Amino acid sequence: MENKDSFRDETNTNSPLGVGGVSPFGYYGEFGGAYIPEILHGTVEKLKEAYFAIKTDESFKAEYYELLKHYVGRPSPLYFAKRLSAEYGTNIYLKREDLNHTGAHKINNALGQILLAKRMGKTRIIAETGAGQHGVATATACALMGLECIVFMGKTDVERQFLNVQKMRMLGATVEPVISGNMTLKDATNEAIRYWCSNPDSFYIIGSTVGPHPYPDMVAFFQSVISEEIKWQLQEQVGRDYPDYLIACVGGGSNAMGTYYHYLDDDRVKIISAEAGGLGVETGETAATISIGTTGIIHGAKTLLMQDEDGQIIEPYSISAGLDYPGIGPAHAHFASIGRTKVYPVNDDEALEAAFELTRLEGIIPAIESAHALAILKKNKGNFKQDEVVVLTVSGRGDKDMDTYVKYFK
Ligand SMILES: *Cc1c(COP(=O)(O)O)cnc(C)c1O
Repeated sequence: MENKDSFRDETNTNSPLGVGGVSPFGYYGEFGGAYIPEILHGTVEKLKEAYFAIKTDESFKAEYYELLKHYVGRPSPLYFAKRLSAEYGTNIYLKREDLNHTGAHKINNALGQILLAKRMGKTRIIAETGAGQHGVATATACALMGLECIVFMGKTDVERQFLNVQKMRMLGATVEPVISGNMTLKDATNEAIRYWCSNPDSFYIIGSTVGPHPYPDMVAFFQSVISEEIKWQLQEQVGRDYPDYLIACVGGGSNAMGTYYHYLDDDRVKIISAEAGGLGVETGETAATISIGTTGIIHGAKTLLMQDEDGQIIEPYSISAGLDYPGIGPAHAHFASIGRTKVYPVNDDEALEAAFELTRLEGIIPAIESAHALAILKKNKGNFKQDEVVVLTVSGRGDKDMDTYVKYFK
C-alpha cells in the first residue's frame, strides 16, 4: 500500500494532501517532473526555492489576498442556480469565476506569479497565449506592477483573436507573433521556452497547470483560492463544507485544479471533469487528451498527450480556444488514471446547447470553455439526487465568445 506521506511535499505545510498529491520532485504518480534543457536548470531551481518560500510566508499571502479582494473582486460568489437545479432535479451551485476582473479565473494565477516575480527582483515577464485570455491576464498584471511584458502568440491566433491582441497592446505588452508549426498555442509555448533559454533572467508566467515542476503545482496553488472559498461558502449556505459533486472543465487544468484542490483527499466528494471532445473523439477532430492521449513529454512535463506513433503532436481541435491544447496538466493525467476523477469528452454541439441553456435559465452567458462543464449536467441527468449538492465552476464569461454563439442562434 502506498503510504500517503510519501506523496507529501515536505516544503508545503498549508495544504491538505501536500499540494494536491505532488511529490518533492514534482510527480503525480508517474506524471509530471521537469524535463527541461540543462541551460534552464539553475533558473528553475531558483524559481522553486522562491516559490516554496512564499507558500508559507504570511506577508506574501496578505499581499496576494489584498489584491484578490480589492482588484479581482474576490470572493467570487457561490450562486445557487434555482432554475437550473429544478431542471436537473438536484441542488446546483455555480462558482462564479466569470465575475472576476478580466472575466475569468486566469487573473488569480497571473497575480500570484507576478508577486513572486517581483520578490525575485525580475523586471521582464514573458508568457504564452492561445486565445489570448492568459495573455490579457498577464498583461493586466504587468500594467498593474509596471513591469515589461512580452506575450508569445501563434500568428494564426493573433489573426483570430483581434480583440485580445488589441487589449494586450493597450495594456502595454509586446505581442510576438510566432510563425513556426501551425502557428497556434503549442508553437507559442515552444517559442516562449526558447526565449526563456536565451533570457533566463526573465520570469515566465505559465497560464495553466502545465509545464515543468514547479509550475503545475504553483498554478494549482494560486488557483486553490477557488476551493478555499467554496468550503466556507458551502458551510454558510448549506451547513456543510463539502459538496457531493464537483464539476469543472479542463484545458490545461487550472480552474479545475483550483476547484478540486482542497477536496482531493475527501472521498465524500465525487469529481467530474469535462474535456473538449470537439467534433467527437472518434473523428480525430478533438482535444480530448485524457480520452485518446498516450504518455509522452510536452513542454517540460511527462503527461498524456495527443501524438501519433512517431511521437508527433496531433493538432487538437475544439470550438473552444481555451481547451484546444494537445496536452493536459500532469495532475489531471494522474487523478484520471487512478480513478479519482471521472472525465467526459464534451462535444462542440453539447457545449453550445449547455451555454444556451444556462443563458436562458439563469441569465448568465458563460465562456464556451465553461459550457463544456455545464454539459456534464445533461450527461448525468438522473444520477444527481434531490438532496445532493453539485458545485460547478463557471471559469469565465461569454463576451469573448459572442461571435461563436451568434452563429448558432435559433
Ligand atoms: C483558459 C481558460 C480555460 C482553460 O484553462 P484551464 O487551465 O484548464 O482552466 C477555461 N475557461 C476559461 C474561461 C479560460 O479562459
